[in-house]
Amino acid sequence: MATMFSPALHRQRHQFVIDFVNLNKPKKVLDLGCSECRLLKTLKFHRDIELLAGLDINGAKVKKHMHKLAPVSTDYLQPSYDQLRIELYQGSVTQKDSRLRGFDLVTSIELIEHLSLADVELFSAVVFGYMTPVAVIVSTPNSEFNLLLPGVSGFRHIDHKFEWTRAEFRSWALKVCLDYGYEVEFTGVGQAPQEQQDSVGFCSQIGVFQRLGGRNGSNALLDDEAEDVFSYTLLYSVNYPSLRDNNMLRKVLVSEVLGSAANLMSRWLEEKTTGNGDGAVPLCQTEGGGEEFLSELCMEMEEQQTVFSLVCTRRYVSVPLAVLWSCCPKVSELSGSVGNLRHLLMGNPDIKLNQDSSAVLITHQEQDQEEEGVDSDVEESGYAEASHYSHNAEQEEEWEANV
Ligand code: SAM
Repeated sequence: MATMFSPALHRQRHQFVIDFVNLNKPKKVLDLGCSECRLLKTLKFHRDIELLAGLDINGAKVKKHMHKLAPVSTDYLQPSYDQLRIELYQGSVTQKDSRLRGFDLVTSIELIEHLSLADVELFSAVVFGYMTPVAVIVSTPNSEFNLLLPGVSGFRHIDHKFEWTRAEFRSWALKVCLDYGYEVEFTGVGQAPQEQQDSVGFCSQIGVFQRLGGRNGSNALLDDEAEDVFSYTLLYSVNYPSLRDNNMLRKVLVSEVLGSAANLMSRWLEEKTTGNGDGAVPLCQTEGGGEEFLSELCMEMEEQQTVFSLVCTRRYVSVPLAVLWSCCPKVSELSGSVGNLRHLLMGNPDIKLNQDSSAVLITHQEQDQEEEGVDSDVEESGYAEASHYSHNAEQEEEWEANV
């Protein structure tokens, strides 16, 4: 059957869900009968999804494939502001579990035909009557198409308990809508040749259900349904690293600050040894040119009558936070303002700040004699105030929610 369709039929079914997700941007998505977690694996790349859950009665199969959903090293090295939690459960769609209520989208791709008709009734009650998601996508084989499938006599799969015609699917779906307050549209994937499309329909028929009233639709709970019920077993859960997690934000910021400060220090020391070696050279002095961003910074600072300096002591080079913030886009993006930058770095064991916390102190190899005498009072304490700047242009923005 796979050779009959291009792309393969299972891909077309998953693509149908992905297109729906792109259009409707659900935040909480649950895949029933998630099997080898293939659909979940594709969905985890969708930025709008914050909670992605899967349920299957076959826990061994889920366990075998759940590693596909684990964060990879780049998720840790370059976390984004997106938030994603993944949860996988073992359990039956015929049973209630309050952890899977209130989702924006529930998908049931080629699952219901594996249930007895009595269990399909329970499925309807659990999914539409108890979980009450905003939208449900149900796909199931269309038996009318079977005559076009080479080698298929009877059901398409040995485990199928039934395969419905379009009319049978329609009748079940419309009853669900009446019973539980949904509306449905019918479509499908896997097209027949043009001249047979009307007579046999799609290979996989799909119902897209929307709760009446959408997100704000009635979701009244009966008393016993309001209680927590846990009938599924949680097999796997993971929170993806996110910059909205303050610890993660700090970690990334610290590594960015240390890298950028070391970079600025080495450029500045190089500049100093090739020319301006007075130990308090404004960063923007770029005699000989070459460093475009430094020149730009210089102009900006002149306008604002601001003086920023890297200053060198015997043990440290002091890199003002204002310089870091202005020179390093990632640092400014992560912190939002110089004030926030200071706040995020203070107390961090990997960062040494000067006395008034206006500069990062970066250890460097002791320089040659020409540096002696610079900030001698500073050298006594090792890392006292070692730079000066006025920062009348510093934008002390409010702490932004997305930082
Ligand atoms: N949805 C998958 C996809 O799109 O790739 C394929 C589904 S596979 C054909 C059917 C899945 O339903 C199997 O993994 C099976 O274990 C699961 N299943 C069968 N009965 C179930 C039940 N009562 N509750 C939950 N999952 C069930």
